[in-house]
Amino acid sequence: MSCYNTSELHVLCGSGQLFLQPLWDCLRTRETLIQSPFFPVIFSITTYMGFCLPFVALDILRPWVPALRRFKIHPDFSPSAQQLLPCLGQTFYQYVVLVLPTTLLHWASSPALLPPEAPEFLQLVRHVVFCLLLFDAEFFAWHVLHHKVPWLYRTFHKMHHQNSSSFALATQYMSAWELFSLGFFDLVNVTLLGCHPLTVMIFHVINIWLSVEDHSGYDFPWSTHRLVPFGWFGGVAHHDLHHSHFNCNFAPYFTHWDKILGTLRSAQGK
Ligand SMILES: [Zn+2]
Ligand SMILES: [Zn+2]
Repeated sequence: MSCYNTSELHVLCGSGQLFLQPLWDCLRTRETLIQSPFFPVIFSITTYMGFCLPFVALDILRPWVPALRRFKIHPDFSPSAQQLLPCLGQTFYQYVVLVLPTTLLHWASSPALLPPEAPEFLQLVRHVVFCLLLFDAEFFAWHVLHHKVPWLYRTFHKMHHQNSSSFALATQYMSAWELFSLGFFDLVNVTLLGCHPLTVMIFHVINIWLSVEDHSGYDFPWSTHRLVPFGWFGGVAHHDLHHSHFNCNFAPYFTHWDKILGTLRSAQGK
């Protein structure tokens, strides 16, 4: 942890770095781990499983906790072991044979450099919001294309639709091409915007959380779509409709692209 003199504190406060610099300094003490070629894979799979497992636990508890039914989009559905295990196996298999070699190649071409300064708070927020909006637009275009062209759907996207009632571990149950495309959109935006490594980490955590929440099958009062005003965010209720109807709600998070293209369908069927 760093110590700052008064003038340094003034500068840090002014730039909104005061809260981020101690966090960044703390992370930089683990520089060897963060700069390891294995870090992106360890970080992604740990974050993904960390977000999935509480929902898996809720699904296991559901028969003994009737109160959970009111938060389930499909109250009588719980994934079976026959549904959970292939998802788990597919995720670990793809991380080993696809994500790990890709990140090793990326690391070899541009090893991670950790600047001493944390990003400015407002810059971080701006970059995360831009990255989410860009990711949403890119995946919307990819998704529409892979539903409208039957060959693309059959070959690359059908696998993700195997579970019509979705559950958290089904989030990354997808073909290698779909996972690669999502990873590419994820990476290209942070690179184009020149995001700080801390911003990249925070964006990845938020992106993984939102995608798991989309597939969780649980609509809680604190779900993201209930916190974002004006119906701007579709979230779990909208993505569940995509999984059951196939022809609506192609954007993963926000609602504006589906509104513009007339493919928006609300959970109330309006
Ligand atoms: Zn999905
Ligand atoms: Zn789809």
